[in-house]
Amino acid sequence: MGFALELDRKGKEMHEFTCGHQECDSRLISSDKDILMGQVADHLKVVHNVQTATRTILNYLETACVTSSPDW
Ligand SMILES: [Zn+2]
Repeated sequence: MGFALELDRKGKEMHEFTCGHQECDSRLISSDKDILMGQVADHLKVVHNVQTATRTILNYLETACVTSSPDW
């Protein structure tokens, strides 16, 4: 099913999150930014003990730590 979704996409834009936290350097990659931000929220919870990743936090991280590249 995920495969069919991929075929529907025009470009193959990839979004990459690089955690800005010192001593972390985790990287998360997804072709869907919403999924990626969900993974980021999980990452914050599991790794950095941030129980509630608010919109504000995610918006900030999206701006500061996510790079998008077409045709990755
Ligand atoms: Zn991290």
